[in-house]
Order: sequence, then structure tokens, then C-alpha cells
Amino acid sequence: MRCIYCDKQMKKITLSSLFLERDLLCIECRKMLKVKRQCFLIEDLKVESFYEYDGIFKSLLLQYKECCDEALKDVFLYSLKDYIRIRYAGYRILFVPSSVEKRRMRGFDHLELIFEDVRLPRIKGLQMKEDLIQEGKNAGERSRMKDNYFYEGEELNRVLIVDDVVTTGSSMLGVYRAIRGRARHVRALSLANKKQYFSF
Ligand SMILES: [Zn+2]
Repeated sequence: MRCIYCDKQMKKITLSSLFLERDLLCIECRKMLKVKRQCFLIEDLKVESFYEYDGIFKSLLLQYKECCDEALKDVFLYSLKDYIRIRYAGYRILFVPSSVEKRRMRGFDHLELIFEDVRLPRIKGLQMKEDLIQEGKNAGERSRMKDNYFYEGEELNRVLIVDDVVTTGSSMLGVYRAIRGRARHVRALSLANKKQYFSF
């Protein structure tokens, strides 16, 4: 088996490794994409993130999302799935939605695939007022995301808002604002954050 990032030949599968989660990255690439857990606030929303938004993370995410390389889906939550399931037991996941146009282009829902094996229940029914694309917007356009979501579904107990990257925090804040009146407890998770936030 070859490393999905650098294409280096990896060690042969041993008997013990059959029982462990198999990493698609070689040891050297995994060292570069190392979990650096951060917790920060967006207004009063507590957010946890796992990676720095650096070279290897950016190129893997780009390859996965924009080049539609579905095989990369298990790279991002390698060794984190059990942690998330236990840490957020009792929560239901609410993904920050991608634009319809982007989803159609990719042919898959990128967050749904990454979190497929986390096996926490999902919340449906969050909608966008305008079909805005998150990526590549300027600050003014991004800030419109803060008011771009609405939710008219059932009352919610524990909600975990999930996104891939927090850039300005506008999308996450928009989703939070749309549901906070109908949810008892809200937390958020992002794979990486682009902005430096203070830890709490
Ligand atoms: Zn590698």
C-alpha cells in the first residue's frame, strides 16, 4: 500500500495492524498532519478544532473537495472518531451546509463522508436563504453568511455544529444564530481553523 499523499511505499500489513484503524498516510506525512487540538470561542460558541491550516492540510482538503478525491475521506479523522463519539455522546451533528452548486459539482457531501463512521445522529432541516459559496469570498460577502441560515425544525437538545475550516467564523456563527433559540446546548467542531483564536 502506498501513502495517499507522498506515494511512498508503506510497511506491509501486519497481523496486529489488521485490528487497528489503517492510516492512509505514511508515518512522515502523518507527522506533518499532526493533531493540534485547539478550543476557542466564536461569540459565546465553544469550538474545538484539530489541525492547523497549513500546507499539508490545505492540499489534502483541496484534493478531496475540489478534485473530488473521495478516497481521502478517512485521512482527516484518523484516530479521532472514537474520541468525537465519546466526547460528544448525546449530541446530534448539524453540518454547515455547502452550496447546492458545490455539492452538485462534487457529487458527494464532503462533511457527511468524513463523519460517516462517527455515528452520532444527524439534524436535518437547516437551510440557506441564498445559495452562497463559502470558499473564496471576500470578507464582506463572508459576513453575509451570518444571516444566511434558517431552521424551522423540531426543538433540539444537544447540537454539535460541524464544518471543515473556520475562516472568519461567519458560516459557523450563522448556523449557530439560526438554531440557538431552538436548542438547549450547542457546541461546534471544525477540522482546522485559519484564524488564530484565543484558547479558553
Ligand atoms: Zn507520505
